[in-house]
Amino acid sequence: MLTSGWKSVSMVDVHGKVTFTLWLCGCNLKCPFCHNWRIAEGFDCFPLDRKALLEELESSAFLVDYFHVTGGEPLMQWQELGTLLAEVKLLNVPVSLNTNLTLVGPLERLLKAGLVDHIATDLKAPPELYGLPEKPSKKLWELFLSGLELVSSYGIPLELRIPVARGLDAWPWVEEGLKHLNTDFYVVLNPLVGRPLTNPRDEVWCSNHCWPEREVEELRERLDGLGIDVHTNHFGDTPAKRVSVSV
Ligand code: SF4
Repeated sequence: MLTSGWKSVSMVDVHGKVTFTLWLCGCNLKCPFCHNWRIAEGFDCFPLDRKALLEELESSAFLVDYFHVTGGEPLMQWQELGTLLAEVKLLNVPVSLNTNLTLVGPLERLLKAGLVDHIATDLKAPPELYGLPEKPSKKLWELFLSGLELVSSYGIPLELRIPVARGLDAWPWVEEGLKHLNTDFYVVLNPLVGRPLTNPRDEVWCSNHCWPEREVEELRERLDGLGIDVHTNHFGDTPAKRVSVSV
């Protein structure tokens, strides 16, 4: 199993929760804003020392709400992940999985085995945010919608993250996604940011679409209007604002 490492106590990976977070390598998407693209591409990766991980998890289990697996796309290694999660369950630690929800078959296997207690996913507007041509992006979007339905059918609580880009209207996709969701969920708005805070995969794309402004507030107002529990991550001021502060 290829990993880029783990963090035994994290307070930033699942909203309002303390997690023990593991990063797994590989991904089936090419999101242009991805700041974990080196992990997604399999750089900086090494074989997981499962024994060391489980020992460390056991000693920090009393502190954490979830063993949280992220990446990359963890379901790229779903078979080994399934056996790891079965061992984590023996430690009585709830499991949270961050997935792009397009690998629906593997996800169903893990859900059926009762190995996942919480899901986090990004609702990404296709095709722009998938970084792939229109046709495969459309197909992936449909898989994502089936993923939302699957998670709902198992009644798994969901953190629905919405990456917010400058100059792109995510609302039609958000509206469609919400129609496929029938489980306990809350929304986290993630304004896309670039350097120096992150190292995005596509710098040119990011110079056009990172650092949104009114888009975040507009989405928040619409979601609030539907009575949805919404949280916004604040990663910093836009470059323009930071310049004006420094002069
Ligand atoms: S943002 Fe997530 S789904 Fe997209 S390329 Fe990066 S790891 Fe994969």
